[in-house]
Amino acid sequence: MTTTMAPARPPLLELRGISKQFTRRQDVAHKLAVRLGLASPPPVVHAVQDASLAIRAGEVIGLVGESGCGKSTLGRVAVGLHSPTRGQVAWKGTPIAELPAAERKRVQLKMQMVFQDPYASLNPRLRVNDLVGEAAVAHGLVRRREQTGFVAELLQKVGLDPAVGQRFPHQFSGGQRARVGIARALALRSEFLVCDEAVAALDVSIQAQVINLFMKLREELDLTYLFISHDLGVVRHISDRVVIMYLGRIVETADAETLFSRPNHPYSRALLAEAPTLEVRKKQFIAIRGEIPSPLNPPSGCHFHPRCPHAMPRCAQEVPALVPLEDGHLSACHLNDTP
Ligand code: SF4
Repeated sequence: MTTTMAPARPPLLELRGISKQFTRRQDVAHKLAVRLGLASPPPVVHAVQDASLAIRAGEVIGLVGESGCGKSTLGRVAVGLHSPTRGQVAWKGTPIAELPAAERKRVQLKMQMVFQDPYASLNPRLRVNDLVGEAAVAHGLVRRREQTGFVAELLQKVGLDPAVGQRFPHQFSGGQRARVGIARALALRSEFLVCDEAVAALDVSIQAQVINLFMKLREELDLTYLFISHDLGVVRHISDRVVIMYLGRIVETADAETLFSRPNHPYSRALLAEAPTLEVRKKQFIAIRGEIPSPLNPPSGCHFHPRCPHAMPRCAQEVPALVPLEDGHLSACHLNDTP
């Protein structure tokens, strides 16, 4: 089942030509050795390459791809946890890097991340009252004396008893910790949440409850989500639009119904051939022939060509552009140029 398509609204967040590379930090001796030609430069991981995406206010985007495809890195760039090597992130039409410092800080608070492992992302020594409310007090959104009441309201909003504010994270079940993680993200009056495998660690029945909570909060608070998941059943269930990434590049994007019923890109077709529903789950993607190449040394041309059953000589030489096929449906494959 898919949710109804969000009405077309202007973009809240735009990723414009984002590339992100990581290089291992070098010590002085290594830098000198590289300069003298006695050592090779450190390898560069091309985590994201030239990714562009406009996320409309109120929209739920499902971002999928095999592990190591760059989806978490793209999510972190979106909320400002990584700065892009190239490209811009824009908030309501303005590049965030160009905003005055105070405004940039205010905008950055509106974008929060909800992580996969709620336990690892919650400080075990802090009570929930501080875990959820401390940052809002520190940023001047709430007065210290109002913190307990403010947290109690948020706990209620995420379906927890306000009395649990005095407890520590280890005193909660996985599902409750997930709710605490969501309350913490909401405490900063966020408008945009990147949920990185946010329900992956939960049992299936608890997953469904937390997904329903995400959807309820979307309605109540007009939230916008980038929902990163390897679980196609979850993505199909909650997304208005789906974005498929392969080895650092966006290869296809369309509204969820179109993408699941008429995927165009050979990678998407392989990935979605057995897409599960939320009720009948398969946790993993179906096996696609061949290994995922390393982002340290991605294949030339179309990154998918070593695994693609339709690869042509051109595919190893030219990067296919992401081009529109129909309204809102884009795909990056040379087959679309072939008559
Ligand atoms: Fe396959 Fe070529 Fe299309 Fe890439 S561009 S998906 S290799 S047919």
